This record gives sequence, structure tokens and C-alpha cells, in this order.
Amino acid sequence: MSSDRYPFGAIEAKWQPIWESRRQFRATEDPSRPKFYCLEMFPYPSGRIHMGHVRVYAIGDVLARYKRMRGFNVLHPMGWDAFGLPAENAAIEHGVHPAVWTYENIDYMRSQLKKMGFSYDWDREVTTCDPGYYKWEQLIFIRMLERGLAYRKRSRVNWCPSCRTVLANEQVEAGRCWRCDSEVTQREIDGWFFKITKYADELLEWCERLPGWPERVMTMQRNWIGRSEGAEFDLPVAGRPGLAVRVFTTRPDTAFGMTYAVLAPEHPLVDELVSDPAERAAVEAFRAEVLRETEIERLAADRPKRGFRLSARAVNPFSHAEIPLFIANYVLMGYGTGAIMAVPGEDQRDWDFAVQHGLPIIETVARPPGWSGQAYTGDGIKINSGFLDGLTVAAAKRKAIDWLVARGLGDARVNYRLRDWGISRQRYWGAPIPVLYCDRCGMVPEKEENLPVVLPRDVQISGQGASPLAEVASFVNARCPRCGGPARRDTDTMDTFVESSWYFLRYCSPRYEGGMFEREAAEYWMPVDQYIGGIEHAVLHLLYARFYTKVLRDLGLVKVDEPFIGLLSQGMVIKDGAKMSKSKGNVVDPDDLIRTLGADTARLFSLFAAPPEKDLDWNDHGVEGASRFLNRVWRYVVARAEELQAAPRPSPGALSEQGRAFRRTIHETIERVTTDIEGDFHFNTAISAIMELVNALHAFDAAPAPPRMRDERQALLREAVDTLLLLLCPFCPHIAEELWSVLGHGESIFAQPWPEPDRAALARDEVTVVIQVDGKVRSRLTVEVGARDDRVKALALADARVKPWLTSRRVSRVVVVPGRLVNIVTSAT
Ligand SMILES: [Zn+2]
Ligand SMILES: [Zn+2]
Repeated sequence: MSSDRYPFGAIEAKWQPIWESRRQFRATEDPSRPKFYCLEMFPYPSGRIHMGHVRVYAIGDVLARYKRMRGFNVLHPMGWDAFGLPAENAAIEHGVHPAVWTYENIDYMRSQLKKMGFSYDWDREVTTCDPGYYKWEQLIFIRMLERGLAYRKRSRVNWCPSCRTVLANEQVEAGRCWRCDSEVTQREIDGWFFKITKYADELLEWCERLPGWPERVMTMQRNWIGRSEGAEFDLPVAGRPGLAVRVFTTRPDTAFGMTYAVLAPEHPLVDELVSDPAERAAVEAFRAEVLRETEIERLAADRPKRGFRLSARAVNPFSHAEIPLFIANYVLMGYGTGAIMAVPGEDQRDWDFAVQHGLPIIETVARPPGWSGQAYTGDGIKINSGFLDGLTVAAAKRKAIDWLVARGLGDARVNYRLRDWGISRQRYWGAPIPVLYCDRCGMVPEKEENLPVVLPRDVQISGQGASPLAEVASFVNARCPRCGGPARRDTDTMDTFVESSWYFLRYCSPRYEGGMFEREAAEYWMPVDQYIGGIEHAVLHLLYARFYTKVLRDLGLVKVDEPFIGLLSQGMVIKDGAKMSKSKGNVVDPDDLIRTLGADTARLFSLFAAPPEKDLDWNDHGVEGASRFLNRVWRYVVARAEELQAAPRPSPGALSEQGRAFRRTIHETIERVTTDIEGDFHFNTAISAIMELVNALHAFDAAPAPPRMRDERQALLREAVDTLLLLLCPFCPHIAEELWSVLGHGESIFAQPWPEPDRAALARDEVTVVIQVDGKVRSRLTVEVGARDDRVKALALADARVKPWLTSRRVSRVVVVPGRLVNIVTSAT
């Protein structure tokens, strides 16, 4: 078998350096041409590329090559998301410096990507751990600090004990670290935040204005932002004039059903409400217990809701009833006011808690028949609600808010689930935060002319305790930029998601030294027209990048509101029912595949096996099939190269019927492949169409034909093969380029325009057929010339204008005069 294979190794090794030396995929700004910015999410340099990389980069490469052939000026860059923890862990495990480990990995992975034949503009390669890169985000950090968009505060944070660092909420999945899967704990820590909440409304609003994004991703972002409208109002504390608990609710209409209220255990008012030393001790014990839980656990619907009843009581201002006050784990200080009114009739969480603590339940919305045993959150008519009775939920909400406002008790409020983005990491391998602490001046940002604050290389990375930077005296001890006195540098580094929030802008002018990017270049290339990456980034990277772009816009640096116009979220690569991973032992190494079957086969299979948004199930037979297909194309073209080169041009006007049908197949294939690429990136069906063309080519070649038709035949075979290679080249660039040159074409196939279907070739000859019922004309049919009688008969009987004449009659006979007439003869039933 292997001896039959086409020489993919030699071909791939031949064309890659030719493309590189011609700088064929280099992009330069050219305002006279339409641009297309095609971008795949850049990789973390973990060591080797995997099949997931092959898949996503193959998708991007097809688009980039296709768009170039369509006349677009295409930017298709590649770079490295090079900061991050694995480099530090490697340093701890193997004693190699994170920088050395990272740059070695980059070199190896770059060579792998080049072996895949991806059409990147390597002149624009960006590496985020380069001081020339992170210098600019340090500058933006200072600008954000000046505008209050970056701030420092002590807060309770998610802490991964194994990574020994803070995690943002977005980086905690089901109570576990997104990267290492350890259980996340909570800590109080000083840290830096980016004020993403200031952009919550705009981020949400634009979710409706990005039709090129998958609805699934937009829904995840909307839920993450979690906007809710409601009211905030005071519950006076019974017997304590002047003291009140402020609550937030999205259901002010249910206030008459409030039978208790709950404060977050860490709510500062709790200390004022508690006076008795025994109660204070119990509260402290309860707080300590809750502190051990993460936010995620506290909010999880299936976790037990634990509460502690305070001796103080509050007054429901709607019903004037005195109600108990609790502290409970399921109420968080960071959301709303840190206190809630509890309405067990209409909130399941409150219901569960009320049942558990024997508290009364008042229903304030009429239930549908048969409803019992749980809270009702649906719509209905208000009951047990005083002045709100008889209203719908929506009308009652408005009336309750108006009532609160009129009495000066409360206000309408909007709340968000979204929190500010905590960006401090207590780790070494990241961009230093450019601020200092001076005894005299306090916190002072580094002077712009002193940027970048370079990450020192001479560190001991133990993985223990605080940031390793704290141990580097030459880094920590510095001069205050304001008074010149002694000062200490901040020893945290920035979350690596800061680097990936703007790399697409750096690609626009990667060597520019006058700023983050050159304005004209960014204005020409931005926004990214098509972004491609995994669904796992639906709320992390994609939300941060949108926010950061809006910040840069408000700083006057970019004009775009959004970074990515189109988004394609590709599925995973799975094998034997699980995602490919080392621990499961089901990994296919791209290097092995390139060596045994070639890069073009690897690309073809990964594009053919599934539509891009679906998971791709790895299948060795499928890979073999892809390889066989390319061999078949190779053998045919090489064997016929001389004949095909000598073939005359086709003269479409004078084709035989057989020739016309074959030429129609060629042009229908162009149309199908183009539609599949442009439409919804269904490369799998595009490839099937190309495979069908190859079958048709063989059939046409093998069919007997008289000698006088030899020229027509040669001309059509030539047209078919040229078309085949043009359609195949974005998918399998090496073999297509080689066969294109075998056919005697001087120029690169990638310098050719994408083929256009010839409308005349697509047209089918048609004829109008009259339909009679019992000798009277009732309708007309358009059918293709040569249509079979039974087909014409079936169409005539199904015709909408004929059917009424057949009801209550029996069809006794149908006469077809080909190309002219159908007569339906009926008789009484
Ligand atoms: Zn971790
Ligand atoms: Zn100072």
C-alpha cells in the first residue's frame, strides 16, 4: 500500500520553502483593496501541537486561502500566548527557566505549523512574553489607573491551592480550577481589578448586534453578565430606630409574601445587629464555616442552604409584619446589597430554606390548577398582596416600585452578575504590574519613559508562597518615580488573559515601536472579520477581549466598538468517545501523521470528517480514505499530464449532449463548493462535492466516445482537472500546487482567481408541456428536455391546478406525448 502513495513528503518539503521565499502570504496594508482579517485563537506554547490545533488552523487556512483567491487582501497571522503557569511548573519540575522552556517550545511548534503548510504571514509573529509586547499593556494599565478603570482593593478571592494563585470567577468551573481541576478555596487578598462592570450594559447591548456570532456563545455571555432589573428598599430593624437592612429584589411584586430576610454572613450590619456575646460567638463560628466555601458552592442550587437566625427582627414595610432575620451561606456580599427579602412562595431557594426552618409561606401569585409542593415562579394574577391584588406580575412590579419611590423607601435598580475582573496573579511568569509603593507618596505608577518594567530573569522559582518576584531584591527595591525616594515595586503579575485581550491589534503592526499599534494599520485591518476558536472561551477570553477593545476605543486608540465581527466555535477532536488527551492515551500525534500520510491528508481528514462546529470523531479508516482520495487525484493527473497540456480550449457552444452534461457537473461543483465555504463553513460537504467531481471525471473519461469527439473530450477533461485543483487547493495546498505546475501552469495556483460557475453551463434545457384533463387544457409544466415519461406523469398528477379536476373522478388512463402533452383521461367513480 505505502509504495503506491504519492510522494507527499517531497512535495510538501518542496513547496513550503518556495512559498516562504516568495513571501506569498505576506500582508501589507492596501486601502485600494478590500481586506479580510482571518484569525485563529493563538496557542499557548505547551510543547507540541495537537490535533485540536490542526483542526482549528486548517479551518482558518481554508478561509484565508479562499479569500485571497477571491481578491481580498488577507491578514492571517500567528503568534504565541506565551505567559502562564505551565512554564513555571516546568521550571519547578525540570529546573529549566520558564523563558528557556517557552522559547524552545515556540521554536518547535512553529516548525510543526510550517510543516502543516498553513499560510501565515510569519513576518507578523507576536510573542506575548516579549517586553516589546507587554510594555504596551503596562502603558494601558497606567491609563486605566488614571481613569479609575484599574483599581486595587482587598477582597475575597478564589484561590487555587495547587496553582497557588488567584482565579477570576470565569476561571472557576463547578468549584474547580479551570486549568488544574483542583478544588478552589477562598482567601482575603489585596489585588488589582479592571472595571469591566462599567461596560456591562454595552457588552450586553452588543450581544444583539453581532449576527456573525453563534447564538450559543451570545447566550453564555448574556447569562454571565446577568443583568436583572428590580428594586432596592429598606427594611427597618424592629425596635432600633434609624437602623435598616437594605435589600435588593428582582420581584418587588412579591413583597407581601416576604416572611423573613437574609443577610450575607459577611455583611457589616451583622455586627451592629448582634449585641449579646453568646450570639456574637455563634455568628463568628457560622461565618468561619461559610468562609470555607467558594462562591460557586454557595450559589449552587443543589448544595444545602445553611442559615443562622439572629435575635434581631425586621419589619416588612408592605405588610407591616415583623419578620425574622437570618444570615445564610446562599446570600453573597458582592451581589446587590448583600441582603435579600425572602419570598418562599415565589422563590424555590427561599422555599427550601423556609421548609427547613419552619417559616411561613405566603403565596402571592395565583397558581395554575394542580400546582403544589414548590415555589411558583411563573406569571399569574396577584393575590394576598394588598394594593397589588388582581394585577399581573409585570404590572405589580411597576406599581410596587412606584409605591416605594413615592414613600421614599426605595428605588428601581439594575443589578449584574458580572464582577470586576481580578487581574493580579501571585506568580512569576507574567507581565509585571507597573506600580510602586513609596512611604511618602503611597501608590505611584511607573513613569511612561521607564516602561517596560521588565520581568527579571534571575529568579528562584520554588512554587511556594507569594510571588517569586518578592524575593528579587534588584526588582523590588526601586526609586519612587514621583519623589525619588526608596520605593517597592508591586510583585504581582497580570492575568495572561490581559495579553490575549489585544494581540489581534498588535498583529496589525507587530514591529511598531511608537505605541501599542500603528493607528492607520489598525484602522485598515480591524475588526477581525472571522475569528475561530473553541467554545471553552465563550465567556473568558471573548468577554475580556470585547471589554479591552472598548477601553482602547474610549482611550481614543481604536475606532471599532467590537474586535470580532464573525466567530466560529469549532468542536473538539475526540477519539474512542473522549477528548484526545495524554492521560486517556488516545492522542494522535500530528508529527506521526505528517510523516506517514502527509500534511495534506491530515488537513483533508480534519476538514472532511465533520462540520466545523461539531465534534470530530477521529477515525483511522477515515484518514486512510482521505489519503486514498489524494492518491487517486495524483495518479490521474500525473498519468494524463501530457495529454491534458496539449488539450484545446473547450468551445461550450458546440458540445455534444454528453459533453454538456459533464460540463454542467463541473460548474455545479464550483457552485456547491463556493456556497459551502461562504455559507456556514461546511467544508465537509464542499469536500464531498469535490470527490463527486473526481468520480464524474473518471466516468466521463471511461465512457466510449467516437474519434470525432476527441478534442471536445480532451478540452473538457482539462477544464475539469484545472477546476478540481482550484477547488481543492485551499484544503490541500501542497498537492494542488504541485499538480498545477505538473500541468504546465507557470504561476502559483494561489495567484489564480477562484473559479466562477458559468451560468450557461449550469442551465438545463427545458420544455413546456401542456396538461389536459379529458381533452381540456388545465395547466402547464416546465420539465427538462428528455425527462422520463413516468416523471412527467407524476408531476402532472400532482399539479395543484390539475388536482381539483380529479376529485370525485377516477383516473383511468394517462397519455404522455414526450416534450409536448400529458392527457389525463378520467371516468366517474
Ligand atoms: Zn489550579
Ligand atoms: Zn515617593
